[in-house]
Amino acid sequence: MNLNFEALRAEMVEDLRKRGIQDTAVLQAMNTVPREHFVPESHLEHAYYNGALPLPAKQTISQPYVVALMLSALKLQPHFNVLEIGTGSGYAAAVLGQIVQQVHTIERQEELVAYAKIRLNELGYKNIAVHQGDGTLGWPEAAPYDAIAVAAAGPTVPLSLRDQLGANGRLIMPVGSQKNQRLQLVWRKPNGQFGHKTLTPVRFVPLIGSEGWQSKKSNQ
Ligand code: SAH
Repeated sequence: MNLNFEALRAEMVEDLRKRGIQDTAVLQAMNTVPREHFVPESHLEHAYYNGALPLPAKQTISQPYVVALMLSALKLQPHFNVLEIGTGSGYAAAVLGQIVQQVHTIERQEELVAYAKIRLNELGYKNIAVHQGDGTLGWPEAAPYDAIAVAAAGPTVPLSLRDQLGANGRLIMPVGSQKNQRLQLVWRKPNGQFGHKTLTPVRFVPLIGSEGWQSKKSNQ
């Protein structure tokens, strides 16, 4: 078993390139963040497998390709203030933290807030604030955001999140049913109106909250 994580990380990034990811900031960040630090110990050997992996509380760490695709679509710049909904393990927040000035990330599950905080602190990130709450309402205290990434799937793009997008801000989110969705890109135009584009089909865990799906026992 090859657990040379550095080599596996470089291979993952090469694979992302081959699949069409071109944003050098995203590729560099994913070549830096130790994904093995965010996956549960039981899945360490699959840390760089290009698929989703299980987390506590029936949640998942997103597939590296999908993380790369979403973050590339946001056209991130170093000075950006970014909001992420669905911290999960904290992996995507760490990738964002490598690229932009400030990251605010919200998670509804207490257990995962603790999981992500420990891991992000251990790696020394000072520009990532992890908040517990209903991310469908955004995090108005730190708005406006230059970019918003939603890592859970909802029936529509929450109005609160659109409202918290700054001038020319871009948001990406899986939108659809609880089983199948497509990534949707939304941007605020200079005239204040919103543009929309529907991208690739994806499968994410549900976004549960007042502007998402209602809580059910099956999805906690
Ligand atoms: N970005 C994560 C993967 C997130 S999985 C990573 O890199 O590991 C989606 C997460 O969204 C889950 O942890 C789930 O608990 C969380 N979630 C679902 N609805 C939410 C809401 N309304 N607000 C905040 N987090 C939510």
